[in-house]
Formats: sequence, structure tokens, C-alpha cells
Amino acid sequence: MSQGYIQEIFSSFQGEGAAIEGSCYGLRQIFVRFSGCPLALGIHGTRGCIWCDSPRAKTTEQKRCSIETKAGGKEFREINNPISPEEATTIIQDLTTADLHSISLTGGEPLYQPKFLEDFISQLKEKKYVVFLETAFTNDFAFLEKIAPMIDFASVDLKDRSAKASVDWNQLIEEESKMLKILKNSGTKVFAKTVITKASKKEDFELIIKKCSENDVPIAIQIVTPIKGTTIAQPTWDQIKEFSELAGNYLPPEKIGVSVQMHKSIDIL
Ligand code: SF4
Repeated sequence: MSQGYIQEIFSSFQGEGAAIEGSCYGLRQIFVRFSGCPLALGIHGTRGCIWCDSPRAKTTEQKRCSIETKAGGKEFREINNPISPEEATTIIQDLTTADLHSISLTGGEPLYQPKFLEDFISQLKEKKYVVFLETAFTNDFAFLEKIAPMIDFASVDLKDRSAKASVDWNQLIEEESKMLKILKNSGTKVFAKTVITKASKKEDFELIIKKCSENDVPIAIQIVTPIKGTTIAQPTWDQIKEFSELAGNYLPPEKIGVSVQMHKSIDIL
């Protein structure tokens, strides 16, 4: 029996993505935020992305999991980790509303707990839920190939160099590109997301776009949300236009979208 470490489970609206295929932007979802992230834990030689909004990503075996008591009620109870796929599925059923589109498996990094993830997705599919995977990294490509047919929608975060998620950025992009290919080939509606800041460079963005083009997947150009106490700044309007126009050299217009993090602009989870 597999067991997993989860940070929190709650109901809200998908706040990332754009008007491109594969995105669930604005749709009602139940979010299952997994503990642990291999990038935050240093697999690529750093302590993860500098704008990581999931401080508990650095802890894999987190003791407590927060569960929303009523869908969208923003009130939580705590249960002990680890939890079973059955227990997690029962929580999902309790939080299900008539407008629910899909279950967002996010993190941390869901692929970091493979056995639990596989069992949990199997349970969700048995109950006819639509599964949305939000991922940034795995190098276990055989496992991704195994579970990809069960994943309906996916976002693969292609990290901009300025995120400082890797000491070898080119290698990281190659690995993330391979994830796009696996998901695309399995029939998942997959798109690439890349968060850009004022520090993002056109030549780095061009490499990311080339990978999207090679794999024939859309791109969501996500504008970073400034974080208090840091020097992370939003890109300028000229940068945003320039990046989108550059993307147009490699992808058709319907595969290019710009967005902001909706959940950080209004008072929702
Ligand atoms: S990949 Fe996601 S969870 Fe991991 S360090 Fe980056 S932002 Fe945080």
C-alpha cells in the first residue's frame, strides 16, 4: 500500500496558464499540493527556483497536511501525513462541487512521489475525475511514460535561466523538453509554461520556444508576481511584446499566450 506526503488540499480556480490548448486557466479545480521537489532539494545543484511560492517544497516528509473543510471555504483542518490514495480520494469527493473541472496535482513536485502518485491517479480515474498534472521536473522518464496515458492535461514548467533552478540550465531545459515529448506522444493535452521576469533574456527565451516548436506544444508566457523583500521585478511591456513576437517565429498565434497569476491578483487561494 503506497502512502504520500501532501502539503494541502483545497478547492479554488486555476490561476496560471493562458488561452491555449491544454491550459485550465480559470476553471474550478481541487488542488493537491505535494511535498518535496527535487529542484528545491538540490538535484540540479541549487536550492530551487528563487521565486518558489511553495516553501514546504524543500521538505519531503512533512508531518501535517492541511485539508479545506468546505470547498472554497478557506478554513482548514489538519491530518497526519503520510496519507493513502484512498484517503486522498475521499477528501477529493468531499470537496467536489458541481462546477469542478479537474484535479490539479501540483507541488512541490508530484512526480517526486511516484508510487503514491500512480496509485492516486488510478483511483481518481476510477472515479471518473479529470487529471491535470503541474510539473517542473523528473528524470525518471520511464515512469512518466507509464503514467502519461492517465493524465488528461499537463503543464510543464520550462524554467527560465533567471529562476536559478539549475547550475546547468541547458541540461535542465533538455530534460524538461523530454517531458513535453513524452506527454504529447501519450495524448495528454500538454503545454509549456515559462515564468519571465525583468532579468529574463531574449536568447534564453528563444531556446525555450524552440523546444516548444520541436515538440509542437503551446506556450504560456507567465509574468512573475513580485515577491516582497526580493529584487525580482516584472518584465517591461516592451519585453512582453518582444517575447511574444519572437514566439510567433516558431509557433502559430493560437499556441502563444501571456498571463498573470490570477490567484495572486485577487483574494483567492
Ligand atoms: S520547481 Fe516549483 S516547487 Fe520546485 S523549487 Fe521551483 S517553484 Fe519551487
